[in-house]
Amino acid sequence: MVSNRKLLALPGDGIGPEVMQQVYRVIDWFDRRRIASFELSEDLVGGAALDAHGTPLAESTLQAAMAADAVLLGAVGGPKWDALPFALKPERGLLRLRKEMALFANLRPALVFEPLIGASTLRPEVIRDLDLMIVRELTGGVYFGEPRGIETLPDGTRRGVNTQVYTTPEIIRVGRVAFELARKRSRRVTSVEKANVMESGVLWREEMQKLHDCEYKDVALSHMYADNCAMQLVRNPKQFDVIATDNLFGDLLSDCAAMLTGSLGMLPSASLGAVDQSGRRKALYEPVHGSAPDIAGKDMANPLASILSFAMMLRYSFDLAEEAALVERAVLNALKGGARTSDIMQPGTARVSTTEMGDTLLRELDKLA
Ligand code: NAD
Repeated sequence: MVSNRKLLALPGDGIGPEVMQQVYRVIDWFDRRRIASFELSEDLVGGAALDAHGTPLAESTLQAAMAADAVLLGAVGGPKWDALPFALKPERGLLRLRKEMALFANLRPALVFEPLIGASTLRPEVIRDLDLMIVRELTGGVYFGEPRGIETLPDGTRRGVNTQVYTTPEIIRVGRVAFELARKRSRRVTSVEKANVMESGVLWREEMQKLHDCEYKDVALSHMYADNCAMQLVRNPKQFDVIATDNLFGDLLSDCAAMLTGSLGMLPSASLGAVDQSGRRKALYEPVHGSAPDIAGKDMANPLASILSFAMMLRYSFDLAEEAALVERAVLNALKGGARTSDIMQPGTARVSTTEMGDTLLRELDKLA
């Protein structure tokens, strides 16, 4: 029996609480089976926190997140809060959480489950067995660089400015995450930038190469320009194992890679911080999808992205790789058995609710355990 670990769940808004409910059932299953136990607490974030406390992230919630071994998030936002000023929007709660926890590495796997191969817009042979991981730098680059802003010029026209900036430590820490991950996979990293036209890209390439040569010679490193990478992702995505890239390119490439799999309701993510002296790293796990207000409260949402995010947590925060694989196998088997929420419906499969998908998953876990 694995010892207790501190988990903070932030279900958030819209379908967040519904999908999180199914994650709780999986956590409970692990506990009942005495495979792994977690000390679970729950708090508010986003619009729910705004309604209760007047802020999308209360100080006490932030402190609880900082103290947790891992944070599980549902989703934030919705039409109810759309008209609010930017600083008060539910999304600010999540952005602040990521910033305060210094979650600089965003991991987004693109994994194709065989039963869902028809959901992709790409031909089956291009994506069959696809399993790649994008590691995106999350706290630097052009989204944060100074100077930034919009100014009016003397002639009355305006100028918008953002600054792409990276330092050696910022590149090295995210590079390390990519190399370490590759060591647990197929030992290949593709570092992506635009060194042909950007100095920050030249630095990125040089630092990644140095890091490789000093510490990760056992991993194969290649470099690719971001525009070519976008093209290669749809031409031949199986050439990639781990892609390491900056904030801006990662934003675009991870959405592109995500859609290779064809289904938003299936995509998990992890955001990791630095390892501290006690060997602990702050981490937040969440589905890629948003709060889906159009289906919220209808027991229709696909909980699998959240459940797969929980599996990532097992693997990356608690080193429970076998347990993570167990959850992933149960997901695959549930899909093989024909269970489909509305977002992944195909002819000949059975439409199930959020709760029924949870039921199916637990049955599959029972069979595997
Ligand atoms: P969305 O991801 O919420 O929904 C897009 C479409 O996909 C909708 O049709 C929705 O019904 C469907 N969908 C999403 N997740 C699903 C699931 N698990 N199962 C079945 N169908 C699913 O994106 P959106 O509509 O652009 O945004 C809605 C709200 O969510 C906005 O307020 C937005 O700001 C917020 N948002 C939050 C996050 C986050 O919390 N990380 C991410 C994206 C958007």
